[in-house]
Amino acid sequence: MSKLTEQGFLRVRGYENPLKVGKILCIGRNYAEHVKELGNLTPEEPVIFLKPDSSVVNSGSKITIPAFSENCHHEAEIALVIGKTCKGIEPSEVQNCLLGIAIAVDLTLRDVQTKAKNKGLPWTVAKGFDGACPISEVVSFENVDLKNIDFSLKVNGETRQTGNSKEMLWDCLSIVSYVSKIFTLNCGDVILTGTPKGVSQIQKGDFVETEIPNLVKLNFSLD
Ligand code: MG
Repeated sequence: MSKLTEQGFLRVRGYENPLKVGKILCIGRNYAEHVKELGNLTPEEPVIFLKPDSSVVNSGSKITIPAFSENCHHEAEIALVIGKTCKGIEPSEVQNCLLGIAIAVDLTLRDVQTKAKNKGLPWTVAKGFDGACPISEVVSFENVDLKNIDFSLKVNGETRQTGNSKEMLWDCLSIVSYVSKIFTLNCGDVILTGTPKGVSQIQKGDFVETEIPNLVKLNFSLD
């Protein structure tokens, strides 16, 4: 039985009440080695897709993989959380609009996504089911160099993904600027910045831990 902790809300360090999640904008194919491992072409512009607010759950959740999928993948990603309304901002203005940073996992039903891709259909089901966006507490990025953030993901204690934001094709500030020129961003919106190589299948009973070392951690299990 799944137990989704604070579905649709973000915990923010230093805030008593959770923050309602707005839209979740995700960047695909932002790390060259991950583009290669899935056999995709390197995009000329950022690939953007959405997850619904109901996909967001907090650390400690038990997430159920939908019965119609037999291949759920983890994608560890740095998440940027918007703190105030902004539209059409330049990279130099982005830090003023951010509330904080978190670590998240873009859970993906790879079999469902592959079928959709082959038919030219949207990825919404593969990426948007309940629990498809576990996310850590949101913390300040004050002492963080956004162009040099290490992060990693373990399954049952074994490291599966390690990455650093310096490997991104579009860096954190450029991504937020880019999406702000298409979508008005509001407090509580989340931007997932893409995953490095090492994505792999996870299944019922697995325990997943991911972190930005010395900053923030997230864990969840699969039910
Ligand atoms: Mg992803």
